[in-house]
Amino acid sequence: LSVVYWMRMGDLRISDNRALAQASAQAAKDGVPLIVLFVISPQDYLAHDRSKRRIDFTLRNLILMKASLDLLNIPLYTVSHTPRCTLPGRVISLLQSFSCTRLFANFEYELDELRRDREVCRLANELGIKPMFVHDRCIIEPGVVTTKEGKPYTVYSPFQRSWISILNANVPRFIEEAPPPSANPHSVRDNPIFGPLFSTAVPLIVEGFQLGEEDQTTMLSLWPEGTQAAKDILSRFLHTKSRAIQLGAADPLALGAEHSEKRSRINAYNDSRDRGDRDTTSRLSPYLSAGVISVRGCVRATMRLLGTQKVNAGRDSGVGRWVQELAWRDFYSNVLVYFPRVSMGRPFQEKMANIKWEVDEAHLSAWKEGRTGVPIVDAAMRQVNTMGWMHNRMRMIVAMFLCKDLMLDWRLGERYFMEQLIDGDLASNNGGWQWSASTGVDPAPYFRLFNPYTQSAKADPTGDYIRCFVPELKSLRGPEIHNPSAKVADKLGYPRPIVEHAAVRERALRRYKNPGQE
Ligand code: FAD
Repeated sequence: LSVVYWMRMGDLRISDNRALAQASAQAAKDGVPLIVLFVISPQDYLAHDRSKRRIDFTLRNLILMKASLDLLNIPLYTVSHTPRCTLPGRVISLLQSFSCTRLFANFEYELDELRRDREVCRLANELGIKPMFVHDRCIIEPGVVTTKEGKPYTVYSPFQRSWISILNANVPRFIEEAPPPSANPHSVRDNPIFGPLFSTAVPLIVEGFQLGEEDQTTMLSLWPEGTQAAKDILSRFLHTKSRAIQLGAADPLALGAEHSEKRSRINAYNDSRDRGDRDTTSRLSPYLSAGVISVRGCVRATMRLLGTQKVNAGRDSGVGRWVQELAWRDFYSNVLVYFPRVSMGRPFQEKMANIKWEVDEAHLSAWKEGRTGVPIVDAAMRQVNTMGWMHNRMRMIVAMFLCKDLMLDWRLGERYFMEQLIDGDLASNNGGWQWSASTGVDPAPYFRLFNPYTQSAKADPTGDYIRCFVPELKSLRGPEIHNPSAKVADKLGYPRPIVEHAAVRERALRRYKNPGQE
């Protein structure tokens, strides 16, 4: 007999993992071994536009975890399965082959995954295997923070106010650390069924998702795998000062000169988080998306920093502001659960479904490749293309530019982001895109169009961000870097803007005001 913990792409850690902790406690109680199962599903990755970088990051983390679990005599068994429609049956037959009595897993809130898990539960129950699904991804699980009438919030601010009061009324329930798993007896290694699982390896690649050599080296140095690496990154954010971006460095964001700012990154976060020319944010998103670090652990770290028993999510401090960002993550998971249409390519605001989009491959390619002739947009797109990550303000700028200046369908951008990002996450990515396209919950009002040039001056006042990612412009100093003249652009071999902001602004206003019309 055995207890199985089914690990998924979003919970790649051993510590503070609720389903794993509960599975371990159950195995100890029943006196049976704990087995960890991971199913690679290439068809799901394809269907959900998973980036090669995210898949590579998953495998790297699995390899590290296999070694750690091995020390606890817990086998991590990784299998690859296609087609995805038969995945529930495959999981069940694996459970049967392990004589599993109890199955534990953390919820995945995406629609396909919920449907898949419902089927697994149905099949498991038929066979007398007890399934148990646990909330682990969010600080407060979807469904708890609702209006007085029990309805979901569709505006962030009241959600956040309710979120913080519920959280602070129940601090232990929401952020207590889940205990680490206990070791299986050594004898599990001699078991004819479980023993061989120890010698199975985590595959080094998933077919169709291999990273190029150069990209792999870059990802390895920028985003080291493992919970310890994530904790080090969190600690850097909590305790050290931001650095200037540095041209040509392996990690351009972290190796420049330390800023004269007296406060640590988190304490300065309130004032500096929108700056792209300095390493001002935590850069934990790849680790939070993959669950390599626990979001509860991040909240606990802010409480330790402040020496408080309550969580601070106030707007007036860096720490509070950062916790608010974590609340955005919960907010978008709620939206996904309550309004699954957003994950089916539908706008949240149904009336926006008829907006007339341009079809222009040349513009789309220029945007993707960072050749639009708008320096801040090009710098940001080149950042995501090389680093697999982009600063939040830049994500907003390039998203707004795609939907409003180029008038290209936001779903094209949403998809391209998923294909490039190492932190690609359906709920947050869709939320960010629909916010920018003014089609989502609590969106940017359609008439509040970003001017990319003024945004550029605010987000990159030194111009270092642009100089770092757009080397053609590295000789430029002063305000000219944000909007070089045609003469300068031609001389430096940099493209002229593919659209004129003032002109296309009117087109966007017209089409948003009257969806369906030219
Ligand atoms: P920090 O500023 O240090 O914030 C800490 C954490 O809070 C982040 O790691 C993230 O988990 C969460 N967070 C911060 N801002 C947001 C937000 N606006 N929405 C949801 N969660 C947030 N985030 C992703 O994790 N995956 C995505 O695929 C993704 N796509 C986006 C697409 C667009 C168009 C936009 C506008 C935003 C997107 N975001 C996404 C949100 C945000 O840009 C990133 O989470 C953030 O830039 C990550 O950097 P950081 O870890 O340094 O963030």
